[in-house]
Amino acid sequence: MSTAEAEAEPATAQEETFEFQAEVTRVMDIIINSLYSNRDVFLRELVSNAADACDKKRFLSITEGDGGDATEFRIRVKADKDARTLTIEDSGIGMTKDELINNLGRIAQSGTAKFMEALGKGGQSEDINLIGQFGVGFYSGFLVADRMTVVTRSWKDGADAKQYRWESSAGSSYTICEDDSEPIEGSGTRLVLHLKEDCEQYLDDFKVKELCNRYSEFVTFPIQVWAEKT
Ligand code: ADP
Ligand code: MG
Repeated sequence: MSTAEAEAEPATAQEETFEFQAEVTRVMDIIINSLYSNRDVFLRELVSNAADACDKKRFLSITEGDGGDATEFRIRVKADKDARTLTIEDSGIGMTKDELINNLGRIAQSGTAKFMEALGKGGQSEDINLIGQFGVGFYSGFLVADRMTVVTRSWKDGADAKQYRWESSAGSSYTICEDDSEPIEGSGTRLVLHLKEDCEQYLDDFKVKELCNRYSEFVTFPIQVWAEKT
């Protein structure tokens, strides 16, 4: 192939690897190792992040935009038995590339220290509520997933916003690249949990609906649980 031909090829997404801040790795370890008997809690945390993202977009569209494209807010939860994934998708604010790095790669140091301290003292029942309180709820996804994929498109970047993919299997690093999978309309975030082998119960529509009903009283946006086609 000549150079000219090579240049005519569509550019392949360049994947970048980033190291988690050390505190994130520690928090993930603690969550995974101490909260495994209360795994259900991941859905509350991830659905509340989706609702927070919708709230932020609603607020910004009123204060900064014309609000015209931000009228529909929804959260969708969908299990795919063949792919063994559970997807939580919101039409919220989304994240820019910088926000992916800052929000899903780092945590406020002071918060972490307090979180560790509180976990050390607390009993199991208290522990579950701590993750939400200390702003580390996102990482509770690793209670049930051995890999998480976040596809996101930011409202702040406007109509030309690029879609990005953040991916991690916990541990010490994550990757970010431009994403060309199913486009997110407007803005929002699609979080795909690649479920662990012993977490098949979260592929069950009834289980997922039950959990969403339990948590939906705290959420002001509609949660649609998409049933598997049979
Ligand atoms: P908290 O929600 O308490 O801030 P989390 O660990 O749950 O802590 O989430 C960390 C951050 O990641 C959030 O503050 C938010 O900025 C970002 N985030 C997580 N999920 C989403 C989402 N679905 N849409 C947009 N931003 C998100
Ligand atoms: Mg949260």
